[in-house]
Amino acid sequence: MRAVRYVTEALNHLSDEEIHQIRETKLINQLKYCYRNSEFYQKKFKEVGIVPQDIRSIEDYLKLPVLMDKDQERLSQQESMERFGHPFGMHLCASPDDIALTATTSGTTGIPTFTYTLAQQDLDKVSDGVASMLNYARISQGDRMLFSHALGVYATSAVLPGIRQAGILPIDVDVRAGTEAILQYAKMTNPQAAMMTPSLAEHLIGKSLELHQQPVGDLNLSALFTVGEIAISIPEVKQKIEEAYGCRVYDWIGPIGGTIAYSCDSDDYHGMHCVTPDYDLYPYDLVDPATQQPIDIVNGAIGEVIYTSLDRLAAPMLRMASGDIVQVFTTPCPGCGFKGMRVKVVGRSDDMLIVKGVNVYPAAIKQVITTYAPDVTGEMRIVLDQEPPLVKPPLKVKLEFGPDMDRNALPQLEARIKEQLSRNVRVNPEIIWCPPGTLEKSMAKTPVFEKDY
Ligand SMILES: [Zn+2]
Repeated sequence: MRAVRYVTEALNHLSDEEIHQIRETKLINQLKYCYRNSEFYQKKFKEVGIVPQDIRSIEDYLKLPVLMDKDQERLSQQESMERFGHPFGMHLCASPDDIALTATTSGTTGIPTFTYTLAQQDLDKVSDGVASMLNYARISQGDRMLFSHALGVYATSAVLPGIRQAGILPIDVDVRAGTEAILQYAKMTNPQAAMMTPSLAEHLIGKSLELHQQPVGDLNLSALFTVGEIAISIPEVKQKIEEAYGCRVYDWIGPIGGTIAYSCDSDDYHGMHCVTPDYDLYPYDLVDPATQQPIDIVNGAIGEVIYTSLDRLAAPMLRMASGDIVQVFTTPCPGCGFKGMRVKVVGRSDDMLIVKGVNVYPAAIKQVITTYAPDVTGEMRIVLDQEPPLVKPPLKVKLEFGPDMDRNALPQLEARIKEQLSRNVRVNPEIIWCPPGTLEKSMAKTPVFEKDY
């Protein structure tokens, strides 16, 4: 199997120490640049009581407090709207005239944040990252790609220029046009690849049969790219989608409009390979989401990823809390041999629960549960007796047993599941069994809470 490679070709010939050195030099330059060009960052440095020259290494830098989160990004935007009549925030380091692309995320409050605000040079880097992913999946010049996300000012649109730059024709059907339109365009244009959320990919499997009496395998895709949900890291979901479409699914992520990471050609999922270590520090900076204390970067470490740009002109981020909980892997990929870092998204910091002092991520529980299918259906609910994140033990988990499961065998199954959860997630839950079909099927892959307070 071909190994995934870094986007910047020269990095493929350097040692880890040399790459670390390059990141350090870029970080120091980025700090000086932000300080010179933004009042916001001048204020931040002042609050911490330092100037950029005080930071001489990545290790020095990681000792700083978290400097920004979504709420502060919104405040920064509000201030720039009031003072300068633009929504790009006081952390904008370039002239608004130099913005080549802007895209937003809405998050939980519904007020959009213009996190993906890019100068042409920033956009070119993202496009190089996207092109390298498509190239790895053997999608190339002259191919067509069904692109079905929310179009317009939304974050995924920022990858469209990269698709075009690679010589690939996007068939960009807004997801809000509905599944019927998406399938119709797919049938008419015969794309070699498609890009969408995993839940849409799963949904189309049934819809294609229902509307056209044709399996999605008849689309003859060579590659499917999915983003935005925890799904492909669950072996059953990856297998189901790959079997239905008859092609490899590549799980990818493009956080905060900078870095690109994607999964390799392996049958097993080995996380998303971080191919742009020279774009940002991702995922080298992890903290405990409850205390914001740094977490040591060792193989398998889990924490909230803190984002820092290394080479960005328009709206660089410095120690920005992303809310994404990831697990990092520092050893070479067992599948393809990629030597850089890999990440698995574990959940969101808002979903985190604390049980007996242990941080518990519902998505991690779900990953364990789904490995017991078909003895379980995979549907689950976490019953909360009080406002999270604190949970009075034991954590209550509702599980559906599978349709063919013998009820007399449930105690043994329960014992095995509990042992696995204790080992992998460090939690000893109380399991409440439900007959199949009693929990409403959730489209989202992150488990749903049932509030009992
Ligand atoms: Zn790999």
